[in-house]
Amino acid sequence: MVGILALQGDVREHLVILERLGVDAMEVRTEKDLSRVDGLILPGGESTTISNLLRRHGLDKALVREAKRGLPLFGTCAGAILLANQVVGEDLVPLGLMDIAVRRNAYGPQAESFEEDVEIKGIGTVFACFIRAPIIENIGEDVEVLAEVRGRPVLVRQGNLLAATFHPELVGETRVHEFFLQMVAAHRVAKGRVTSVRSSRPAPGTRASPIRAPRTS
Ligand code: GLN
Repeated sequence: MVGILALQGDVREHLVILERLGVDAMEVRTEKDLSRVDGLILPGGESTTISNLLRRHGLDKALVREAKRGLPLFGTCAGAILLANQVVGEDLVPLGLMDIAVRRNAYGPQAESFEEDVEIKGIGTVFACFIRAPIIENIGEDVEVLAEVRGRPVLVRQGNLLAATFHPELVGETRVHEFFLQMVAAHRVAKGRVTSVRSSRPAPGTRASPIRAPRTS
């Protein structure tokens, strides 16, 4: 089960992509919801609002704890800001999970939002949509850059964490989500869930579905 943090932002668009990929998905608003998922998407939206709501729902600490235990997280735009360990020039305190420093709204006002073809390592060319996007200004040595635009990283990975400053979910692009689903599948295997899901009866209200192998090209 893949979760989408559903406090604010473009939750529905991520759900549509996951449904299209045949993945069981659910909205996550509470710690109990979080305990049911094997991967979590932090959507785009307004990072200050999501950050405040995370604290209000008591989810910030739970998210940090689960990420440190290996739960795969994928942040798009505002979600990527939340994953960072530093938001340059602002009071916003992010979750501090990824060794990246970001600057919000760094391309300028809404009129400077743009769309561009982006070459992603291992995926190919993706049409990417940047909406009041942040810029990743600095990365630590454990952070892998998977794509760049105008000389700046726009898709980065650090272990179980993936951050995009653009919105694959808004243009019907599924390949970045499929990449994330591979991380989720690896996490399930690491936790031995593949065996336990298949060999045990599903809990009431849940569905034991075979783990889909995402496309690798
Ligand atoms: N500008 C927003 C922020 O800083 C992010 C925009 C987005 O998610 N598209 O939170």
